[in-house]
Amino acid sequence: MSDLNPSIWPGSATRVSGELNLGGCSSSSIAAKFGTPIFVLDESDLKTRAMSWRNALEETFQDRAGDVFYAAKAFVSVEVAKIIKELGLNIDVCTGGELSVVTAANFPGERIEMHGNNKSESEIAQAMDYGVATIVVDSLQEIERVSRLAGKRGKIQRVVIRLNPGVEAHTHEYITTAIEDVKFGFSIASGAAWNAVLEISKAKNLDLVGVHSHIGSQIFSSEAFDATAVKLLEFLKRYKDEYQSELPNLIIGGGFGIAYIDSDKPIPAGNLLRQIHKVVISNCERLGLSVPRFSIEPGRAIIGPSMVTLYKVGTTKEIKLKDGATRLYVAVDGGMSDNIRTSLYEAEFTAVIANRESTSTLRDCRIVGKHCESGDVIINGINLPSDIKPGDLIAVAATGAYGRSMASNYNHVPRPGVIAVQSGLARTIIRSETTADLLALDIVEIAKPIGERS
Ligand SMILES: *Cc1c(COP(=O)(O)O)cnc(C)c1O
Repeated sequence: MSDLNPSIWPGSATRVSGELNLGGCSSSSIAAKFGTPIFVLDESDLKTRAMSWRNALEETFQDRAGDVFYAAKAFVSVEVAKIIKELGLNIDVCTGGELSVVTAANFPGERIEMHGNNKSESEIAQAMDYGVATIVVDSLQEIERVSRLAGKRGKIQRVVIRLNPGVEAHTHEYITTAIEDVKFGFSIASGAAWNAVLEISKAKNLDLVGVHSHIGSQIFSSEAFDATAVKLLEFLKRYKDEYQSELPNLIIGGGFGIAYIDSDKPIPAGNLLRQIHKVVISNCERLGLSVPRFSIEPGRAIIGPSMVTLYKVGTTKEIKLKDGATRLYVAVDGGMSDNIRTSLYEAEFTAVIANRESTSTLRDCRIVGKHCESGDVIINGINLPSDIKPGDLIAVAATGAYGRSMASNYNHVPRPGVIAVQSGLARTIIRSETTADLLALDIVEIAKPIGERS
């Protein structure tokens, strides 16, 4: 019997002589070589997931299949950007920093899309100078800025407009009203979206090529996507009526859910896209529209399950609860600085003892970090073997998305590195920070009048 649910753990995760192996490398050898905490990327798992989204989009939408944009904000490094590039997927970035990473991977500009609700002029300029294919505009000021900066360069910039369709989804539920109060996108219901279209059509250096929306994350059913597709198609219909031409692209965003715990049941990519495809086809018929090129932006669903965090247990502490029960606090050598999701979103995770198998009875544990916050929790409640002890390794599954990418240096804890494993081979793709890295930012200088600073 394995304690490794294959819908939670990466494809290569197995127990060999009791020990968790990833990409053919044992947990203890990874810890000995690279230290802990460390993010371990199962490289072939990442590739399989990326291709499954690409193939599912092509099989369902066929000649109307657009692009799969990997959402870099979930996790990106130069090596991961290269893998995504070589697999033929596109990528979306939200900041100049993310763009710099994909630039370092020589990612072709014509396969990059730039997001962000408050891009600076220098970020817009960086995107244009690199030849980013499309910029997703998110405010009236930005429409003016992008057009002006494109004009300066004597070019026409392709843009997509980010719409707020009035659909919001998180996990199992979605709501279709009263979510106007968010910072992203132009609201369709209030008329802001149409106003943005008018502004873009007046701008000399912009070419509007489609509509976009992204409605949330970790979504498990197709209904919210179906509702969003209908709203976007109705908007495209209005455009067609007013301009007697059609916008070619519909981008439905990302947000596709993954399994973190046993009860999470994400819909396979193909089933989800088949359902959305049906809705798109029937609504295009109803509205008299040609079927637009349909694109998606999965982040979590591609990288999330491919990575595992390996920690070492430092201390354990038994706490008596009010009802007479006890809970074992298990403290590991990382915490909210490498995984903020539990304290930020009450996210749930699965973990196992990685360096050995145990037949001890299970008991209620809470996995906590080493930071100076009571909320520094990685897993609030989990049953682990009662003989868990200092020195054991703990592996937490599905930490690839929004783990390392949201990491901080709280308490001056260096951020963990990322290693990629495959076929018994391991390589560093982001090295672990050192205290020296952190101290390098502390400088001593003589104060000068502010105007004399250069
Ligand atoms: C965050 C984000 C995504 C990816 O979301 P996931 O939940 O990781 O799939 C896609 N598109 C946009 C615009 C986003 O902001």
